This record gives sequence, structure tokens and C-alpha cells, in this order.
Amino acid sequence: MSAELGRFDRLFIGGEWVPSGSAIAAIDPATEDAWTEVAAAETGHVESAVAAAREALSGKWGGLTATARGALIARLAELVRRDADRLAEIESRDNGKPHSDTKGELRRAGDWLNFFAGAADKLNGEQIPYSNSALAYTRLEPVGVVAAIMPWNSPILLACWKLGPALATGNTVILKPSENTPASMVALGALVEEAGFPPGVVNVLPGGREVGAALAAHPGVNKISFTGSQATATRIMQSAAGNLKRCAFECGGKSPFIVFADADLEKALATAAHSSFRSTGQSCSASSRIFVERPVYEEFGARLAEIAARIRVGPQFDPNTHIGPQTSSDQRDKTESYIALGKESGARLLAGGKRPEGFDRGFYVSPTVFVDADNRSRLAQEEIFGPVTAIMPFDGEEEAIALANDTSYGLVGGLWTSDVTRAHRVAARIESGLVSVNTFRPVHFMLPYGGYKLSGIGRENGFDAMRAFTETKTVVVDLSTDRPGDPFP
Ligand code: NAD
Repeated sequence: MSAELGRFDRLFIGGEWVPSGSAIAAIDPATEDAWTEVAAAETGHVESAVAAAREALSGKWGGLTATARGALIARLAELVRRDADRLAEIESRDNGKPHSDTKGELRRAGDWLNFFAGAADKLNGEQIPYSNSALAYTRLEPVGVVAAIMPWNSPILLACWKLGPALATGNTVILKPSENTPASMVALGALVEEAGFPPGVVNVLPGGREVGAALAAHPGVNKISFTGSQATATRIMQSAAGNLKRCAFECGGKSPFIVFADADLEKALATAAHSSFRSTGQSCSASSRIFVERPVYEEFGARLAEIAARIRVGPQFDPNTHIGPQTSSDQRDKTESYIALGKESGARLLAGGKRPEGFDRGFYVSPTVFVDADNRSRLAQEEIFGPVTAIMPFDGEEEAIALANDTSYGLVGGLWTSDVTRAHRVAARIESGLVSVNTFRPVHFMLPYGGYKLSGIGRENGFDAMRAFTETKTVVVDLSTDRPGDPFP
């Protein structure tokens, strides 16, 4: 490891760098070797982080104006951009994404912080004219201590989705990165310190699921903002019930991508390839169920398979690499098990389906395309989080909608057509938090993002995200000059 990447052997709690007796080995998924060790939180660290975050709520941070909070977030955005290359190197080492992709993500993380920095002093309560002899208004107050529990696919970007609105509205935050990608959050902690946030406003606790579970159960935590699998979200909800924590969940997806025969096929194909295989398919919004209208079905499958076969799989720091390895051996094994299930289910394999040649080590899987999949099969129903897509035919609008909605997920839906009235008709009937027409998953800091059904609870991004980090307090002031009569004459 190059020393310039930073130190990862301490936790960031209450503005101090705290050593730990435990460590997580950070594995490079291209080599399968540990590239560094990262301090791991123990039970006592969870206690001290919650105490520091609670103290910060009523300290200097609690006294800052919204504008001053925004200025600190803007400073953090500047620092994330300044260090984008270094942070991207850390993340790519940990999660195996091509370095160029991660650099782009880190710049976007700065955009997210800037949006919420600017929005900090633009969220208002309201005055409610419920009576002429009373003044009634609402105050939007911070929820309190937020535990942000994160996955491994885009650690800093997703942390900024949570940090931005949580800090803009005056909360304090404990960041718990995934045990698969612990290092970059420690580096982010150092930038929080450099930006000048008061101690305890942001704390960083790398660790395993037991650290997440301890935060979810802790009575001093007011809200869990979680991105990860639906199975973990269910466990968190159970642990969080003790003090009725507010819970926001961004879980997985099995996103339908519907291509009508009148669509611009070139554009639909390029987008399908990108959204199925980018990030090695480790994206919650991957277009993993592609429905194609029968007249263009065979052509679409064959051409997507051609593109998949051309994708260069390789190490994340090779500039020729299109997609890297999967992040962990568990994830690679999971993907391979779904490829086996796909084959057993009778789906026809047109591309991939195996490890790419030429790699003795590394968690690599080739981009894989199945056609003639059964929409009720596990291949088509369960989230794989790998570079595997399943293509199925349909006849007409009604069947497309029925197939697309026949899933327990509902994160993103895409449809491709040149018929503008059909576009709106179908968009209204797709059961997902985001529907894109002739584009796919335009994820942006201004656009609310989140899931229907098992894909989650709540929305991130935009002003919806800010409101989700506030409690509404209603204040009513009697303005009348009447004297009350005896209430119990
Ligand atoms: P995961 O659920 O295994 O882990 C996510 C986080 O939860 C990790 O930090 C982990 O340590 C923690 N955790 C595990 N068990 C816990 C428990 N019992 N209590 C509290 N915390 C616990 O998910 P993952 O494998 O890291 O990420 C992949 C999943 O994330 C996929 O399902 C994917 O769809 C989803 N994801 C969703 C979005 C989105 O915005 N909707 C974005 C990225 C990833």
C-alpha cells in the first residue's frame, strides 16, 4: 500500500482518532490479498460514538445556523473533490471497481454534498391558518443521532447521500461502512475533521454486522438510514423497534427494462448493456430483467450478447478494463450459483456464464446474458448483484406491465418506446420508485430515489431526503384576549 493513501488504523469518534484492538483485513478482489488493515469497532466504541454524537447535538453544532451548517458541508464537498483520485484508489482497491469509474463517482459525491450544502437554509416549516385567534406554525427539527449503515458498492457516494441531508438539517451521524469496504470511510472521517466540523458531529465506526446490529438496537440512536439487502433491513427493523427508531431503507431491486418494438433499439441496447454490467452488475438499480416485445426479441438478445462478449474484464487499475472483479468471494459464489440456477431452469445462455479466462486469482465473472428465462424462476426473481441479465419476450402493453410488476421488488423501472402516450400510460402503472422512459435510472441529487415493496422505505435525494431527517413540531400560540370561563362550573 502506498503511504499517501492515508492511515486506517484508528476509528474517528468525538473528533478524536481512537485505536482499537481489532482489525479488518481489507481484501483486494483482483488479487485476493489483503492490501491493508482497518481498525474495527468493538462494543465500547459503539457506546462512545453514540455518546459523542448525542453530546454534539446540544453543543456547538446545535447552536449553528442552517447557513453555517451548509458552509461546513460545502467545505467537505471541496475536500472530497480535491482528494477524489486518492479516495477513488482506496475504494477501487477495496471493491474492485475500475479506478476511472470510482473517480467519476467521487466527483459526483461532491455534487451531492454541494446540493445539500445549498439546501441547508432553504427548508422551511409553515404557518397554518387553522384559527384567526391563534398562531400555528411548524418547526422542522433534527431527528437526532443518525446511524448510517452502508453497503460496499459505492461507499463514499452513498455515504454522501445520507450525510448531506442529515447534516444540513442539524443531525449528528455515525457512519458504519461495510466490512467489505471499510477503508474509504476512515479517509472520509479525516476530511470531516479537516473541514472543521465540531467533534462528534460525524463519527466513523468500521466493523462487521455486529456493529450495525448494536447501532440498530441502541436506545441513543434516533434514526437508521440503511442501504443494503432486504434481509438485513428486516433484521434492523426488528432491532430498531425497541425505541421506535425512524428507519429509512434503500434495499435491492430486480429492475424491469421494457423494450417495445417501436423503440430506438441502438439506444436501448447500449443502455441495457451499461445498466446490466456496469459496476460488474453490483448495482441496486441494475436492469436485470429485460422484457422485449416479440418482433425485436431475437435481435435484441443476440446483439446484447455480442456487446457482453466484447466487455473487457480485468483488474481495476488497468486502464483497458471495462469491468473489474466482484467485490468478495461470497458475492462471486452467489453470482455463480444463480448462473447455475439459470442453466437448470432452462434459460438459454447466450454469453458468459463462466469465469473469464486468464485469471488464476481474483473474483471475476464474465458478463452473462440469458434469453428465454422464466419470469417466475429464481434467476428472474431474486437479486443477484452480479453481471447477469435475463431476457424475456412479451406481446403487447398489458403483458409487459404484468410481467414487470410480477416481482417483490420495486426500485427502478425502465421503458423504451417512441409512442409518447404509451410511455405515460405504462409509466403510471409500473410499481417502482423511479420510472425512466428512453433512458435508464437517471440518479441525481435532485431526484427522489427509493423503492416500492421490498426495495425499501423512504426516499433519498432532493428535499424529500431532507424532510426525512426532521421531526415536525407544531407550535400553537393563543392570540385571543378572551378570558376563559370556569372549566368546571
Ligand atoms: P448487506 O445487507 O449484507 O450489508 C449492508 C450493511 O449492513 C453492512 O454495513 C453490514 O455490515 C450491515 N449489517 C449486516 N447485518 C446487519 C444487522 N443484523 N444489523 C445491522 N447492520 C447489519 O448488503 P451488502 O451485501 O453490503 O450490499 C448489497 C445490497 O445493497 C444489495 O441488496 C443491493 O441491492 C443493496 N443496495 C441498495 C442500494 C439502493 O440505493 N437501493 C444501493 C446499493 C446497494
